[in-house]
Amino acid sequence: MERVLVTGAGGFIGHHLVSYLKEKGYWVRGVDIKEPEFSDIDADDFQLLDLRWKENTDKATEGIDHVYSLAADMGGMGFISANHSQILYNNALINLQMTESARKNGAKKYLYTSSACIYPEHLQTEANVVPLKESDAYPAAPQDAYGWEKLISEIACQYYALDHGLDVRIVRFHNIYGPYGTWTGGREKAPAALCRKIAEVEDGGEIEIWGDGEQTRSFCHVDDCVEGIYRLMMSDVHEPLNLGRDRMVTINELAQIIIDISGKKNVSLKHVDGPQGVRGRNSDNSLLREKLNWEPQIALEQGLQGTYRWIEKQVQAAQS
Ligand code: NAD
Repeated sequence: MERVLVTGAGGFIGHHLVSYLKEKGYWVRGVDIKEPEFSDIDADDFQLLDLRWKENTDKATEGIDHVYSLAADMGGMGFISANHSQILYNNALINLQMTESARKNGAKKYLYTSSACIYPEHLQTEANVVPLKESDAYPAAPQDAYGWEKLISEIACQYYALDHGLDVRIVRFHNIYGPYGTWTGGREKAPAALCRKIAEVEDGGEIEIWGDGEQTRSFCHVDDCVEGIYRLMMSDVHEPLNLGRDRMVTINELAQIIIDISGKKNVSLKHVDGPQGVRGRNSDNSLLREKLNWEPQIALEQGLQGTYRWIEKQVQAAQS
């Protein structure tokens, strides 16, 4: 079996991916600046390394066949819309060093995790948005530095493939959610933040929603996400591919689904000013279906069950 590296292995998707790859029988090295917060380390070798620096990316990629590159300074809309230069600086350093070290150390495959945030803002101004297909990326006009950096790093991967034959895969995630992820502290994303607010509020109370709640998104469960990542890595698809679900819901609808799961009879939504990101976003999965003969399977209501129960437990533990 090949030796694989997962960067960002202390984070949400990275730690799920490590467990998935271990189950498949791989020897796995995990690297991050922090250990997983909510679970044990499953990796055979876990190294605490700051991947912005070349000596550390060299060390991380030493003796590695497949690189899954997930490390990033990131968070939900609140974080992304308030930390542009920090995100651009940290993530560009991580990704430029990672591709160069992977090339230098002879990695056989390199998978880069990009984002739906690369798509032009002007294609996402309506709640009832046309789903985004991969070719919509250009002419480029992402909303935030987070998206611009992701595009630059996609391009870096493509030039490393062209100039050095690095065997790259590029995946664009659309709102991944699930248990064992950040649920408080400012970096949490909408599904986790709503689960927390609903778990915290008394029945009959109200929770805050940023904006009018009519902004739309699609949400993909982390188990589908890691399976999609693996299928892409095993494929011969080198062009960027969306990985998300294509069922669009409003944030108000998302909140209502979670309220129903919570069993609370009456939680009202109070709409307040706050960062909302683009007005509407959905994934066009045509290319994903065509290239991988697969697409994410887990229904939102089903995936949110486990996510809510896990966050509810964290809230109860924090309150006791
Ligand atoms: P996460 O924040 O939970 O994980 C990222 C990890 O990278 C963190 O554990 C963090 O400590 C680590 N990291 C940050 N700076 C580092 C550094 N200098 N050196 C080493 N490690 C560092 O995020 P996630 O949700 O697991 O996202 C994984 C990847 O997927 C990221 O590249 C992210 O941009 C991308 N992505 C995620 C989503 C989503 O919905 N979660 C959507 C689009 C793209």
